[in-house]
Amino acid sequence: MSETRRNFLKTATRTTLAVTFAASTGPFVITARAAEPEKKLGFALVGLGGLATNQIAPGLQKTKHCRLAGIVSGTPEKRKKWAAQYNIPEKNIYTYETFDQIKNNPDIDVVYVVLPNAMHGEYTIRAAQAGKHVLCEKPMEVSPEKCQQMVDACKKADRLLAIGYRCQFVPYHLEMMRLGREKPLGPVKLIEASFGFKIGDPTQWRLKHSLAGGGALMDVGIYALQGTRYTTGQEPIEVTAFETKTDPVKFKEVDESIFWTLRFPGGVLANCGTTYNSNGLNRLHANFENGWAQLDPAYSYDGLRGKTSKGQMDFPQVDHFATEMDDFAQCILQGKKSKVSGEEGVRDAKILAAIYESIRSGSKTVKLA
Ligand code: NDP
Repeated sequence: MSETRRNFLKTATRTTLAVTFAASTGPFVITARAAEPEKKLGFALVGLGGLATNQIAPGLQKTKHCRLAGIVSGTPEKRKKWAAQYNIPEKNIYTYETFDQIKNNPDIDVVYVVLPNAMHGEYTIRAAQAGKHVLCEKPMEVSPEKCQQMVDACKKADRLLAIGYRCQFVPYHLEMMRLGREKPLGPVKLIEASFGFKIGDPTQWRLKHSLAGGGALMDVGIYALQGTRYTTGQEPIEVTAFETKTDPVKFKEVDESIFWTLRFPGGVLANCGTTYNSNGLNRLHANFENGWAQLDPAYSYDGLRGKTSKGQMDFPQVDHFATEMDDFAQCILQGKKSKVSGEEGVRDAKILAAIYESIRSGSKTVKLA
């Protein structure tokens, strides 16, 4: 067994291994001790904002293999409130200044980074250096270079890294992937994908370039991009993008609305859009040679709906975050790479950078390596 795999398994399966060993000692063992229930992996959330509060913490309560073990927050009132609400001991509560001490805390197996985009890299790297596996929210970071540094740091520390691409665990999206891979409706021909919403508070970090790295594209356009990649199962070879800004004051620092076209090998085109200036774009549509499939709404937390040219899709609604966290816990327990790995985040970051490059160049087509 490799050192990597041994480390991954060390904390999680000690009891199972003990039983196996005892049983294998043969005549000296009369009865094998029953296995204790498998340990749940301890998650620490970094940044107790809207997503952590309304989705991730409630999602954690529904997981099979995870538990909310710790928190990292710069806000004293939140630390107090969360400690009481989730029964978190003082020793598992950190500030951004004390964060590195998490290294000495065996209760924490995974750090889940839920900070503004431009802080993901720093906290992912610090978490890996503290010996923790990392689940990092999307977008992974604000540039391909920063994303690559995160991958390198986790590799160096021998820790797993996954990106919060929750849709990749949802039955409706898994069906789009299946249709693309198994081709029951024939090969994919064309895709339309879009996600946007009308953003409120003009003072929020999402509208500040230094914290967000970009606007609608970085924040929610990335769902449409992901949709095109996992439905085709291919990597795009070039992109052409257009931007419009109807409110240059509010969107002084970041993009408001962007539409872009991706070309895939073999000739598939994907037309994609994103906006911070209106509600309603929330769709993933694929045309196949012999039919079509569509999710709308496609990227909401719940209430997804899907249909194909053959009829309505009928899949259970799942908690996206619970499913994503349980999958990551299983990856750690089994010592296998997540399908939403850091490398997957790097690939998206390169395409996002190419979309911005196309816009800067007056909508010239940009080749993707
Ligand atoms: P919020 O603004 O609601 O929360 C961010 C939290 O980060 C703050 O509450 C604060 O927590 C902490 N923070 C630390 N430094 C700063 C700073 N300088 N400015 C602002 N906040 C700071 O953001 P969200 O929870 O909506 O988003 C967090 C991340 O999650 C983003 O990367 C976003 O893209 C991603 N996201 C993913 C979604 C998904 O569906 N997968 C949906 C929504 C967001 P504290 O007070 O505890 O320090």
